[in-house]
Amino acid sequence: MQRNRINQGGYHGERIDCAAVLAEMCRMAAWHGFAREAVSANGVELAFFQRSGRPGINIYLSAGIHGDEPAAMLAMAALIDRDRWPMGVNLWICPCLNPTGSARSTRDNAAGIDQNRDYRHLKSPEVRAHIDWLERQPRFDLHICLHEDWESDGFYLYEVNPDGAPSAAEAVIEAVREVCPIDSGALIDGRESALPGIIRPSLDPATRPEWPEALWMLQNKSRHGYTLEGPSDWPMPVRVNGMVRAVEVILARIPPVVLNAGQRP
Ligand SMILES: [Zn+2]
Repeated sequence: MQRNRINQGGYHGERIDCAAVLAEMCRMAAWHGFAREAVSANGVELAFFQRSGRPGINIYLSAGIHGDEPAAMLAMAALIDRDRWPMGVNLWICPCLNPTGSARSTRDNAAGIDQNRDYRHLKSPEVRAHIDWLERQPRFDLHICLHEDWESDGFYLYEVNPDGAPSAAEAVIEAVREVCPIDSGALIDGRESALPGIIRPSLDPATRPEWPEALWMLQNKSRHGYTLEGPSDWPMPVRVNGMVRAVEVILARIPPVVLNAGQRP
């Protein structure tokens, strides 16, 4: 695998037509039986997919909250297209949380707000609309947020898991390593990594002046989750494969006893 070495001071890699990718995700989601809800955030339309209704485990996935992380949206598109979710899983998917930033290939939205630092103060209409929608949904057993990092040397993840649920983090790293480099630095994104590629951040909301999506989820909807960070200085297929593999490993390790409960006739 050859590193691109083109990201100096920001993401300068491949861009995608996010509107076209989102339209294709909407088409595929409808084909696979997802209901779609369109919510207006001050004129910016957010799409949310849902396929649920049976007893089972509730999984939430999101992508595209940073507009300069195209592999996250492509990985989500691949997951929806494959439709290989474990039996007994109910799904809530936010395929593109920052449409205006994604259209411009910028981290922030068009108003200059980093939406993934806005879950405490709710300055952006997009985050307010997202939370309005989330508050109408049930609790999630697991949340997975797809991201990329242009500065990283490889794939890594954050895990929030204060109750000590069985963790998939180490299995994810081992599986992703087969298709995508892992960032094994002791310091990743300014935080100490517990194990190669794994960060378990401080979860005290009082110590965090700005909240990312995952911290709001932890406090309001879901006590266990992963933020996956693809390495965006590597070729697009490497990053996409890494993230798809990571999600598949996480879902494959959902305790079968929970799945069985939803599958009995
Ligand atoms: Zn991001």
